Amino acid sequence: MPKTMFKIDLSKPMEEQLHPGHNRWHPDIPAAFSVDPGTSFRLECKDWTDGQIKNDDNPNDIRDVNLARVHVLSGPVYVNGVEPGDLLVVDILDIGAFQGDEWGFNGIFARENGGSFLVDEFPEAAKSIWDFEGIYTTSRHVPGVKFAGIMHPGLIGVAPSMELLQKWNEREKALRETDPNRVPELATTPNPEAAVLGTLKGAEFDRVAKEGARTVPPRENGGNCDIKNLSKGSRIYFPVFVKGAKLSVGDLHFSQGDGEITFCGGIEMAGWIDLKVDVIKGGMEKYKITENPVFKPGPVDPHYSDYLVFEGISVDERNGKQHYLDANLAYRRACLNAIEYLKTLGYTGEQAYMILGTAPVEGRINGIVDIPNACCTIAIPTQIFDKDILPKK
Ligand code: ZN
Repeated sequence: MPKTMFKIDLSKPMEEQLHPGHNRWHPDIPAAFSVDPGTSFRLECKDWTDGQIKNDDNPNDIRDVNLARVHVLSGPVYVNGVEPGDLLVVDILDIGAFQGDEWGFNGIFARENGGSFLVDEFPEAAKSIWDFEGIYTTSRHVPGVKFAGIMHPGLIGVAPSMELLQKWNEREKALRETDPNRVPELATTPNPEAAVLGTLKGAEFDRVAKEGARTVPPRENGGNCDIKNLSKGSRIYFPVFVKGAKLSVGDLHFSQGDGEITFCGGIEMAGWIDLKVDVIKGGMEKYKITENPVFKPGPVDPHYSDYLVFEGISVDERNGKQHYLDANLAYRRACLNAIEYLKTLGYTGEQAYMILGTAPVEGRINGIVDIPNACCTIAIPTQIFDKDILPKK
């Protein structure tokens, strides 16, 4: 078992940990520890909200969650000898929940506080708690469903350079300003409230808190990609933008459906992750991995082979308007079609929505050329249900 290099006490907020992690991206957040290439190590992680969500039946903690706090990350890890232009190779060796804390949560965020993919249909907060038994999970809030999880970090990434950080902040601010009063906002721009920045103090803390990018979107550094297949056995090739790469990880999920559509998100959990790091010198230019990470999924997946697949096309159901090859809209329609079907099995809309967010459902862009309709699908494994879910005569 690799040595634990980043220890977490679940009863304390991130800034009071032995070594505080961070919840912003900035090159000047000090590293928590350093390792040589070829080393494996364990990082313990809080859940992404820093422990704001409780294992109970009341969704008010989802409704009232302080999103300025997210995502609390473990790290950064400085990898000796790694420089900008290199590729950082990261192997995800293993992931698990803490003994005695074998549970996680899924939430639908309220429109006024985060929102979600189907925010118009589901504007109110809702929560489901999921209990883990080995690789399986069930929820007292979503009966009749049991599945094997594919544990993965929702968020893993390296630090941006100062130049890259400025680019992010400028382009995201420009988008936000196209509709500054929109609820939820179009992008989360820097916000010093509730910032945690490792061991930084005083004037340095204030500066970095004002400049640091929020961790919400995926970006060139990886970040919050929420790729459900980035599970144990996966290898990631990160472009490196600063000395030491400064790798951070968090937002562990027990399981997630493609798209993480409820926003909070998959099954969110606290836990541990074992990583191994290595370097390919000069790899960014050599392999043209300069814009975003590349990864190779691991060989361990639940063996679901039977699916019920729902299609969606790029026609807005609210006004019947035809859109041009809009995959976002087509995926939304596929999700809505799946939810309407699941409701005929006795689920509430919220329960159906949460099944799509948590179970290992497969999302696809199937057609993106057949003008004017994009075709997207969402495939639900039929074997996760305790009964036959197919249409009957
Ligand atoms: Zn998450």
